Amino acid sequence: MNKPWTTSEVQFLRENAGKVPKRDICQMLKRSSASVSRKAAELRWQGGCPSLKYYVPTMEPCPSCGKLSATINRTGMCEPCRRRDQLAGIHAQIADLMAQLTPEDRDTYERMESKVESTLEPLPEPPDTSRMTPYRRAYREEMHAAKVEQVVASNLRRQVKAAQKRKERIREKVETMASTKVRKEKK
Ligand SMILES: [Zn+2]
Repeated sequence: MNKPWTTSEVQFLRENAGKVPKRDICQMLKRSSASVSRKAAELRWQGGCPSLKYYVPTMEPCPSCGKLSATINRTGMCEPCRRRDQLAGIHAQIADLMAQLTPEDRDTYERMESKVESTLEPLPEPPDTSRMTPYRRAYREEMHAAKVEQVVASNLRRQVKAAQKRKERIREKVETMASTKVRKEKK
């Protein structure tokens, strides 16, 4: 009943312990849960095999950008992707309005835009997970991904707000120009 372990099976266990669910390891090795646990304990005694404890991810990759996300909603996209789309839409509207301005006014607004970009919050540093167990590493990497997503989303929200204001300013300018033109034509 206790089939002896081959070198390649031991190797497989060493490489996958804690990185994939134990259930999957058992399935791939065609061994019982007890057999895998026993072997893992034996390897740990020899100082070689990390724990089988597997961290179940709570975040899933965004189908659009592939980044781990905790903010995917009905649209199927993470918040950063949604904000990027929103921002692209506003930028397109700004480009349309800009085309109606004089070259001097256009220069002024382009300078305003570059100032806004520089006030973004920097991304958090990735944690050093080199000496962690697979469980701990997966947990820390997920925490890091969540923090990164928060900062990216908050920066994009800030950019969206700034772009909306910019769009309104340019729209006002365009409308003033249009009404001045109408008044001049009426004279
Ligand atoms: Zn995304």
